[in-house]
Amino acid sequence: MAERVRSFWGWGYEESFPNDDARKELATRLRAVLGHVPEPLSPPSASAIVVPEPRFTVPVELRSLGTTDTRERARHTYGRGYRDLVRGFRGDFAAAPDWVFYPTEESQLTLLFRFCESEAIALVPYGGGTSVVGGTEHVASGRLRGTACVDLSRMDKVLAIDTASRTARIQAGATGPRIAQQLAPQGLSLRHYPQSYEFSTLGGWIATRAGGHYATLYTHIDDLVQAVRVVTPAGVIETRRVPASAAGPAPERLFLGSEGAFGIITEAWVRVQPRPRWRASASVRFAKFSDGVAATRVLSQSGLFPSNCRLLDEREAMLHGITQVPRAVLLLAFESADHPLEPWMERALSIASDLGGDCDEEATYTAEIVYSLSPTAVSRPPAPSVAPASELPNVGRDADTATWRRSFLDAPYMQSALVSLGVVCDTFETACSWERFPELHAAVTRSVEAAMRTACGGGTLTCRFTHVYPDGPAPYYTFIAPGRAGAELEQWDAIKKAATDAILANEGTVTHHHAVGRLHRPWWEKERSDLYGSTLSAAKERLDPHGIMNPGCLIGTKT
Ligand SMILES: Cc1cc2nc3c(=O)[nH]c(=O)nc-3n(C[C@H](O)[C@H](O)[C@H](O)COP(=O)(O)OP(=O)(O)OC[C@H]3O[C@@H](n4cnc5c(N)ncnc54)[C@H](O)[C@@H]3O)c2cc1C
Repeated sequence: MAERVRSFWGWGYEESFPNDDARKELATRLRAVLGHVPEPLSPPSASAIVVPEPRFTVPVELRSLGTTDTRERARHTYGRGYRDLVRGFRGDFAAAPDWVFYPTEESQLTLLFRFCESEAIALVPYGGGTSVVGGTEHVASGRLRGTACVDLSRMDKVLAIDTASRTARIQAGATGPRIAQQLAPQGLSLRHYPQSYEFSTLGGWIATRAGGHYATLYTHIDDLVQAVRVVTPAGVIETRRVPASAAGPAPERLFLGSEGAFGIITEAWVRVQPRPRWRASASVRFAKFSDGVAATRVLSQSGLFPSNCRLLDEREAMLHGITQVPRAVLLLAFESADHPLEPWMERALSIASDLGGDCDEEATYTAEIVYSLSPTAVSRPPAPSVAPASELPNVGRDADTATWRRSFLDAPYMQSALVSLGVVCDTFETACSWERFPELHAAVTRSVEAAMRTACGGGTLTCRFTHVYPDGPAPYYTFIAPGRAGAELEQWDAIKKAATDAILANEGTVTHHHAVGRLHRPWWEKERSDLYGSTLSAAKERLDPHGIMNPGCLIGTKT
């Protein structure tokens, strides 16, 4: 089978980018919502890529690890957020890294650090390159005279599995499918499914504190990380493999969310689980989003901890084809490797219906015997096999959740297609207390709708809860507005600013799971205290004394 080629500018595989007919049809459908939408433009061609000449050469011992290949440099120029897609689509690769390195072992990282320190080169760790906050951009400013990208994709093995403790030692460059393939023969799974699962990596998840498919309880990768190993320019830090500890501030926490600013996470011990055998799913409709919010709050505080508890507002439910009339929809699911789930689902549905929810279909229950666990202690995993079909985000199996799951997985390709139509579209997320949510939501809606009117002449904003906690929800917004050819980035800037200003003014966080990167840094610096900021800068100075690690990402550079 021919190897699939990763797009150098857009999401995923080149061959999966929607073809002309599909994009024309998308344009027709969008006109009903946005008014004018131009005919799709053709994506950029690889033969037309222009990148600047590399600004430095590398010594012999590094040459075999790296490349200056034009396409590779272009592919590693950006993450995959809206601004990245637009710049890539326009063929703007002026900020390409000078070199892209593919280390296979830690000793090579140390060589790279020494080279970059002595030559004043910025070094940007790169997992799957799916950052949406400018986390993998290349900025050589001040005394730095070039940039190098360190792509960890060749460090992608599951090195050991401790079945007794249900933990696995995994290299940072392993993507979701690579982890799944290697854990499956043991009947185990990490069960961490960000929407970017197919391409994002364990190291990237840890560095950004990614959010997965569990809507409650184990929402972030943080909850699944037992210990980390990090190679920094100042040396190696490996944290202890223990289930819990009261020994000072937790050292692994320094690296969860470190965004490549302190060093390179090379591996981690993570908590794995048997794949679920029982699943239950249902959807509940509410006349109004606010009714659904009230029910979701009670559910989040009930101690039931559903694996999926996604509340879609009326527009979002219609956009995904789940309802034909305006109704908020709550997608509920439970999963377990240990027990049937009827009592949990019945209690959840009873809470929802007491609060005005309408569950018009029976809940779906499935039980499947998938694997039994081997009782051996630490073992080497068998050779990787093909990932099982069930190793995909499980948000439930009833008809509504199946529709939702399909559009969840297709959405990233859709965003690249929308860029080719000149549409301004993106998502942003936050988290806040239940008490603050109504005001925050009203303020965000007001500000973003006003910004879309001013910048684009109109547009649509939708909201869903991706994760919920006993003390508050994580609202996730999607906006889509008509673009003006050539002005899309300025239009997007105005909407993003309106959204983030409103979030901050209403006591939300600038990010629930997308991280800080370069994009959110100006707002994050207002969200956190100055003293905390300078404490982080001091840690950076200790671990990265020459300031080569991902400068400007998360932490500002000294001028
Ligand atoms: C379509 C789409 C859907 C998404 N869905 C989700 C979602 O559901 N949940 C979610 O949380 N996020 C999501 N994201 C954002 C993104 O996928 C996450 O931030 C993800 O964790 C990034 O992983 P990555 O391997 O691609 O990291 P990269 O994008 O390569 O890097 C991200 C940051 O981490 C640093 N980094 C990467 N690897 C390492 C390492 N080994 N050591 C040190 N630093 C490192 C980089 O320098 C950079 O600052 C989505 C993005 C897209 C484009």
